[in-house]
Amino acid sequence: MRILVTGGAGFIGSHLCERLVGEGHDVICLDNFFTGSKRNIEPLLDSHRFELIRHDIVEPILLEVDQVYNLACPASPIHYQYNPVKTVKTSVMGTINMLGLAKRVRARILQASTSEVYGDPKIHPQTEDYWGNVNPIGIRSCYDEGKRVAETLMMDYHRQNGVDVRIIRIFNTYGPRMAENDGRVVSNFIIQALKGEDITVYGEGQQTRSFCYVSDLVDGMVRMMNCQGFIGPVNIGNPTETTILEFAERIISLTGSKSRIVFKPLPADDPQQRQPNIGLAIDKLGWQPHVAVEDGLRKTIEYFAAIIKNN
Ligand code: NAD
Ligand code: UDP
Repeated sequence: MRILVTGGAGFIGSHLCERLVGEGHDVICLDNFFTGSKRNIEPLLDSHRFELIRHDIVEPILLEVDQVYNLACPASPIHYQYNPVKTVKTSVMGTINMLGLAKRVRARILQASTSEVYGDPKIHPQTEDYWGNVNPIGIRSCYDEGKRVAETLMMDYHRQNGVDVRIIRIFNTYGPRMAENDGRVVSNFIIQALKGEDITVYGEGQQTRSFCYVSDLVDGMVRMMNCQGFIGPVNIGNPTETTILEFAERIISLTGSKSRIVFKPLPADDPQQRQPNIGLAIDKLGWQPHVAVEDGLRKTIEYFAAIIKNN
């Protein structure tokens, strides 16, 4: 198949491109390089199955493809809050453009949505039928509400125009090729620990997250794209939940670091708890994560150690 991956030079996108090229597909990676980098896709540049286009999905583009994975959108709070209007445009105008493309060429399109559509959830763990608790006017809204509208657009193009859509709600994912400077908790803590700097826990560290290794996520994405008769939305994440303070302690122990934990103010609207209920993914896709958090973290630590050494 010929497959378009928007945001393909980013953290998750680059792993997805690698997997699809490995399966023998022709992959078009489209990226504006806002947070992505050529280094992420360097191993693919020599493959005749891989093509790179520098393009912003806020602008229309004409391509002939069989499937579209729409991942283009900055994902870390620092990056999506850097230019919030652009973040909304990427999720709204960008998704309209990709849906228009899918409609024109009758391609199947998968939207990378997020657990952020649940906001600061009142239901725990989160199931797909929960409508969420999102502040529409806060500093995270450009991302959360943008992604919610993107889901709405997917469903409306499906109902109105018969576009073949798939929606996945991705929970916190980590692994090699996360950007070092993107301020997310996994990259921050590992880099701080490896450099012997203070580990910055926001608030009292009692908020929870559930971390999924990137290869597990990519497997869930591909299964969802290729399943029949189920369009989602479906949660894809690892249900192993941890407080951020426990997570900091675990990183210190895995790296053998002498770093101290320090407490910094909690950012506005930071969700208190987050854990996916993955019953639907198990039932409909036969998917569940396999990589234990310790194993995934070891690989991620190795990656960042090499980056720091080469800097
Ligand atoms: P990332 O920032 O590494 O990747 C996003 C990619 O999209 C980058 O390569 C960036 O340059 C590109 N991009 C951004 N705006 C664009 C635009 N207007 N036009 C073209 N390209 C554009 O982030 P990621 O962690 O790889 O996330 C990928 C997708 O998965 C995002 O849609 C994100 O919302 C979603 N997601 C990620 C997580 C996570 O934990 N990583 C959780 C939930 C959802
Ligand atoms: N966090 C933290 N220290 C950091 C970075 C993040 O304590 O240096 C916290 C943050 O407040 C949040 C959690 O870790 O509660 C996850 O943050 P991240 O930005 O990785 O993802 P998101 O909030 O989008 O789930």
